[in-house]
Amino acid sequence: MNDLILKSMDEAIEYIKKSDKIFIASHVNPDGDNVGSSLAMALALKKLNKKVILLKTDSIPEDYMFLPGVDLYQDYSDDLGPADVFIALDSSDLDRLGQNKEVLLKAHRVINIDHHITSTNFGHINIVDDKSAATGELIFYFLKRMDIDIDKDIATNLYTAINTDTGKFSYESVTSKTHRITAELIDVGISVKDINIQLYEKYSIERTSLFIKSLGTLNTYANDRISSVKVSQRMLRETNTSFDDTEGIVSFLRSIGPVEVSCLLKEIKPDEIKVSLRSKEYVDVSSICKVFGGGGHIRAAGCTIYEDLDTAESIIIKEIMKNLR
Ligand code: AMP
Ligand code: MN
Ligand code: MN
Repeated sequence: MNDLILKSMDEAIEYIKKSDKIFIASHVNPDGDNVGSSLAMALALKKLNKKVILLKTDSIPEDYMFLPGVDLYQDYSDDLGPADVFIALDSSDLDRLGQNKEVLLKAHRVINIDHHITSTNFGHINIVDDKSAATGELIFYFLKRMDIDIDKDIATNLYTAINTDTGKFSYESVTSKTHRITAELIDVGISVKDINIQLYEKYSIERTSLFIKSLGTLNTYANDRISSVKVSQRMLRETNTSFDDTEGIVSFLRSIGPVEVSCLLKEIKPDEIKVSLRSKEYVDVSSICKVFGGGGHIRAAGCTIYEDLDTAESIIIKEIMKNLR
């Protein structure tokens, strides 16, 4: 972390200390890094006797319902009024906050803590480091700098944030720093086994049926260097699942030997397709998603294409092809 980030951290800490009403908001389709980071921050600031309001926009996926403090999540209502400080976590731009973007715009101060390469630095204070493997890493340093005791509940949330955003500590974003942070979290007394079972070994039979059905749509392109799978509304109905149950499909697709880029297309509406891309070694998928108004990281990114499923697939495949060597 460079001096500029540390300076922003100190500025944010000073501001938080003199504020009372603090909002923390999750992003749309919240993931483990977002939920874990938000809960860690919320639990920490509660220790300082701050009035902490933890806002959600979409519902929290079942995978993360075991996390300590998850019952703190609430929807915004007008009687909450404006925030002294609004903390956005793991959100590269304002639209990622969904309806809570309006709440943010009314806040006295906005602190943006993030690790996306496509961050728009929308905060009054921006703690953005694209070298961090997860927002959870930044929160770990932030809480230490604030002299807050990282207890078992906070450690469980931070471990989850880092574990889920690094593909269980396997991506190139992982550094020795990532492991040093994790070692400290383990020293606090969390159970690595229990958390990993909660995260990855509690899948429902319905989710397994969706996994099978979705893989039935597998297409590969460019000598199997691209893999692609589609999930339609009909498949969700037939398996009694939701899009939360697609978590893990796109990284599975990348695990096929020759694949460099994997693609998951989700039919949100008949002409609104959410695209998730993952790459293995060299393709920058964040730049591909940027073409369609999305963003993310070099090896994991997303965007929305306003076409039907098949058209969206051919559009995104064409764009991916341009980026293959
Ligand atoms: P996903 O494929 O939805 O799991 O997202 C992969 C990564 O890209 C995550 O870090 C997201 O925050 C980011 N991302 C996904 N969709 C968008 C979008 N429409 N705009 C900006 N970033 C996105
Ligand atoms: Mn995220
Ligand atoms: Mn993240």
